[in-house]
Amino acid sequence: MIKVLVVDDSDVLRRITKFNLKRAGFEVYEAVDGLDGLKKMKETKPQVVILDVMMPNLDGFGVLAKMHEDLELSGIKVIMLTAKGGDDDAEHAVKLGANMFLTKPFSPKNLVEAVNELAGK
Ligand SMILES: [Mg+2]
Repeated sequence: MIKVLVVDDSDVLRRITKFNLKRAGFEVYEAVDGLDGLKKMKETKPQVVILDVMMPNLDGFGVLAKMHEDLELSGIKVIMLTAKGGDDDAEHAVKLGANMFLTKPFSPKNLVEAVNELAGK
């Protein structure tokens, strides 16, 4: 089963995203901020990470930078969640190694398609 880790400080976003991904047949894990995200990546070894930009402790860009430095994490595919109007964020995320980005609010269908594409399904 494909493992997906959702890293977002919003309880509501995590709940909705988890619901949709589980329904699509993925094994889903959650992390509440950037530091928790890095820890859970090591524990759960997901194929795909859904990564928010704005988070306490360590933001999405900081997480990407840390992943890039860590051989254990650098191969994990990343879908960055950017805010509406955050074109600079999307560009920055791609430069730092994000594979795709979705602008909030995104549809469940687009999310599932993005995960499937990155997971090579
Ligand atoms: Mg946030």
